[in-house]
Amino acid sequence: MEAVAVTVEYSQALGWVRAFSSSVAENKDYLTKLDQAIGDADHGINMDRGMTAVLAKLDGLEGDDVGALFKTVGMTLVSTVGGAGGPLYGTLFLQMGVATAGKSELEAEDWAAALDAAVQGVQMRGKAEPGDKTMVDALIPARDAFSAAVAEGGSFEEALRRSAQAAEEGMLATIPLVARKGRASYLGERSAGHQDPGATSSQLLVKTAAESWAAE
Ligand code: ADP
Ligand code: MG
Repeated sequence: MEAVAVTVEYSQALGWVRAFSSSVAENKDYLTKLDQAIGDADHGINMDRGMTAVLAKLDGLEGDDVGALFKTVGMTLVSTVGGAGGPLYGTLFLQMGVATAGKSELEAEDWAAALDAAVQGVQMRGKAEPGDKTMVDALIPARDAFSAAVAEGGSFEEALRRSAQAAEEGMLATIPLVARKGRASYLGERSAGHQDPGATSSQLLVKTAAESWAAE
């Protein structure tokens, strides 16, 4: 293993937002297909519209405040994405922005705080609990795995990897669940057997952070 990323600089935070946007674009049809099975077939379209608008905003940004960057992402998502995903992802980024306000670089503890704020914001807004078959089912394991890795003395890099792994496991674990929140809940038992679209986009969020920030 090579050099360990000790801090995430502003430019790397920007790089992650761009990477998430690219990943959403690449997975647009996949996310929409997942939403077709248990929702209204628009999750990929919604997320891609939002992240495309975010990309357009990034060029006009000045300074090196990571919190301000995340807040801009959140506000842009809130104003451009409809449905459940817009307000939920908007809140996620806005709360990450609050948690990292004024920071020009992030240490592992800052990212732990950002993930925690993201989870709390999404839960405050959407009232979903673990096991309800939502994005929370990827985000909570990601947050917990990251914090646990840091608490055990693991590097930022190691914590990012474990966090991404946990998000993927959480995403896959939504397959057998019966949805209790959002449109999929209207299907009742018929929502079981399908992977949750929001948990899938949230896994992309955590995975792209690990890929952007963990040294090769
Ligand atoms: P809509 O359901 O309005 O069409 P999207 O298709 O963009 O919005 O997003 C659907 C995703 O939103 C679901 O897969 C689920 O993960 C997430 N979601 C829906 N309701 C909630 C909620 N109350 N809390 C957390 N996540 C939710
Ligand atoms: Mg939908």
